[in-house]
Amino acid sequence: MSTYVHDFLDGNRDAADLLGGKGANLAEMTRLGLPVPPGFTITTDACRVYLKTGAAPVELMREVEDHLRGVEARMDRRLGDPGHPLLLSVRSGGRFSMPGMMDTVLDIGLNDRTVEGLATISGDARFAWDSYRRLIQMFGHTVFDIPGAAFDEVFTAAGAEDLDADALRGVVAAYKEIFHRHTGREFPQAPHEQVHLAVLAVFRSWNSERARVYRRQEHIPDDLGTAVNVMAMVFGNRGPDSGTGVAFTRDPATGRRGAYGDYLPNAQGEDVVAGVRNTVPLEALKDLQPACYEQLAANMDALEEHYRDLCDIEFTIERGRLWMLQTRVGKRTPEAAFVIAAQLCDEGLIDLDEALRRVSGAQLAHLMFPAFDPAATPEPLATGVAASPGAAVGAIVFDSAAAAAATEPVILVRRETNPDDLPGMIAAVGVLTGRGGKTSHAAVVARGMGRPCVCGAEDLDIDPDAGTLTAHGTVLHTGDVISIDGTTGEIYPGRVPVRPSALMRHLGEATGESDDPVIAAVDRLLAHADRVARLGVHANADTPEDAALARRLRATGVGLCRTEHMFLGERRPLIERLILAGDDDAEREAALAALLPLQRADFAGILAAMDGLPVTIRLLDPPLHEFLPALDELSARVARAEALGTDPGRDALLLAAVRRLHEQNPMLGLRGVRLGLVVPGLYAMQVEAIARAAAACRRAGGDPRPEIMVPLVGDVRELAAVRREAEAVIARVEGAPAILLGTMIEVPRAALLAGEIAEQARFFSFGTNDLTQMGWGFSRDDVEGAFFGRYLELGVFTTSPFETIDERGIGRLIRIAVDEGRRSRPDLVVGVCGEHGGDPASVRFFHDAGLDHVSCSPYRVPIARLEAGRAVV
Ligand code: PEP
Ligand code: MG
Repeated sequence: MSTYVHDFLDGNRDAADLLGGKGANLAEMTRLGLPVPPGFTITTDACRVYLKTGAAPVELMREVEDHLRGVEARMDRRLGDPGHPLLLSVRSGGRFSMPGMMDTVLDIGLNDRTVEGLATISGDARFAWDSYRRLIQMFGHTVFDIPGAAFDEVFTAAGAEDLDADALRGVVAAYKEIFHRHTGREFPQAPHEQVHLAVLAVFRSWNSERARVYRRQEHIPDDLGTAVNVMAMVFGNRGPDSGTGVAFTRDPATGRRGAYGDYLPNAQGEDVVAGVRNTVPLEALKDLQPACYEQLAANMDALEEHYRDLCDIEFTIERGRLWMLQTRVGKRTPEAAFVIAAQLCDEGLIDLDEALRRVSGAQLAHLMFPAFDPAATPEPLATGVAASPGAAVGAIVFDSAAAAAATEPVILVRRETNPDDLPGMIAAVGVLTGRGGKTSHAAVVARGMGRPCVCGAEDLDIDPDAGTLTAHGTVLHTGDVISIDGTTGEIYPGRVPVRPSALMRHLGEATGESDDPVIAAVDRLLAHADRVARLGVHANADTPEDAALARRLRATGVGLCRTEHMFLGERRPLIERLILAGDDDAEREAALAALLPLQRADFAGILAAMDGLPVTIRLLDPPLHEFLPALDELSARVARAEALGTDPGRDALLLAAVRRLHEQNPMLGLRGVRLGLVVPGLYAMQVEAIARAAAACRRAGGDPRPEIMVPLVGDVRELAAVRREAEAVIARVEGAPAILLGTMIEVPRAALLAGEIAEQARFFSFGTNDLTQMGWGFSRDDVEGAFFGRYLELGVFTTSPFETIDERGIGRLIRIAVDEGRRSRPDLVVGVCGEHGGDPASVRFFHDAGLDHVSCSPYRVPIARLEAGRAVV
């Protein structure tokens, strides 16, 4: 019994934590009786021991030897036996797919003797020596960090692709010298040592720079480690009846049914994924090798049926015999995710709950991306493969470092990409390559990141050294702007105008049923999400237009109406008057009286748009100086007036007020409820405006449901004081409906004392922006650029806590507040209205924490609805 090694015959797909995704699926295919070359998986446990101690577990290599004997028996070949040499591949494969980010070594088992044996038994000396050449290069690069270019130079100088066996023998001799020069030792001739060293190199590659960058981008934890798959080699480069390919059981770009993929005759597996040579479509295999095509199609059907999902497959044909080298539930575009989930329901393979599990709010967000305006697109410069959908406009850069350093939006343009381009792909708004198909590195990685990508644009002549991109006589240079459409594959010169997504238009205009398969699938899954969700979705809206849009997007209320947005623009002089009034009661009351009718009209519009649904109006929150001109601007104006000997007039008064109100830490200063308690009549004016607006709506036959929310409360007495005043004001307004009064919970003290605060509040709404700011002590306006990059690098967090709720810390405050608040008032309504309310990854937490609703910007409402449903299924 092995601790660290599992034969493909023993595992299954549920063991992905231990065997990695690739290993678990190889075992599953083996179990299903599909033709998988014999092999075994070294577990992630073994890798974790290596990562922790710097050495493999002592028993590992003995277990590997045991399992190798099993592979030898099944293949009837032996490692190192010149008469019947067994060759092996050693591949990485973690729990989560990290395409091309870790290492692989192929053709292990070749040495000076077995290469001759391979030449004899295969009858193909050229193939044998070419395999040996590949091994020395891959092994040298992966295990000993010898730069690939050192080998490439020799290979190119010798004539590259067209070499015969003798020439390849010469290349091998030169490669061995390179190996010796770089490592100070001979290329290892003992196959078991090759296996041993390759396994350790794959373990190490878990922590390669590019793997770490990829994990950070994809929020994959750093401590999982990779499994290692050791498998008997089969060869796709043994002549015209051999080849290698990648296939999907449905189109991963659109979701359309039918086998789809790329095939490369007479080539080894890595050639397809690297996108180095251009492939032929999978259908071409039907003519090239009909029997293999049929068998492949049958295997694909079996896999779809078994996994009940889109599968992608890597296969190799060696001299007319099909081998399945890998499968997994395939990555897909967001469009395809929705279409496939709906199709699988129609086909009876999954139910609607499962369909909802198969899509995500992040994918829906992607569909709400803008696209190019077809009325305004010029003639395309060229067309490539539509590899990852979306519209991107940016300046051309030809190398990854320049993309990563750019401050303006850029399009990364490469002949082909490799894993070292990852930082550039992350930084760029779009990716364009001249070579490779939909399964090339560029395509797979860009799709995973939701980055628009066009690849395989063969009409483009890309010359990174000259900094030019030439197409049909047009020459573009570094810095020129281009527009790429990852949905159609088109590439345009210049800046093409972008228009909102069709889905957004459909949802935003509530246009009824659609024939578009993507939109129809989204509608169907959103409807199911609404049926099952417990968590309501409200919107943050400050205008009647936003409220109406939110309602069309099926928000069931306004969870936050920020009244400060109503104090800007033309109304600034009125606010200035209020501020300048200072202690002058009459002047202040006059200023407030002028504001009252304006606020009443603001609220009436929003209450009408949300008739019958709750509208939570927050009393004024920001520090008053935000409504005055900036200190330096005012000082300059006053100084100029004084220099000219003219009267600075009102500016001098404003300057004095700005100086009086100046605070070192305004976010912790005179704002929120403190303003309400310090500026007499301010909150009373707002409350009166709300009550009067509601009374007028009722008189007009409406059903207004205003609620009043007090910001920045830290102590129950603050709230009690505002409440007393508010209730007295409302009582004086004839015809006003009952108006609930509640508070934001955004100061940590309020979360800790929520039980007391709930005695004075009918509802809570978590202001997670401020709660995060004050809980972490991070200034929300300053920190992201200042040091979050370093924090992400160090793994202090994997996403900004201002984007996705910090469940452990800030989440704990939320849970405490929900528990204590409900204990003191069982019918307390609890929501959240910080940015996190529309973050797909945070919605599930709010559901789990028992909140009644989230509130987010109108455009995020469909995303939150979907996630609220997904939290239940
Ligand atoms: C919050 O703090 O989360 C909140 C919603 O209020 P604001 O962003 O207006 O401070
Ligand atoms: Mg706040």
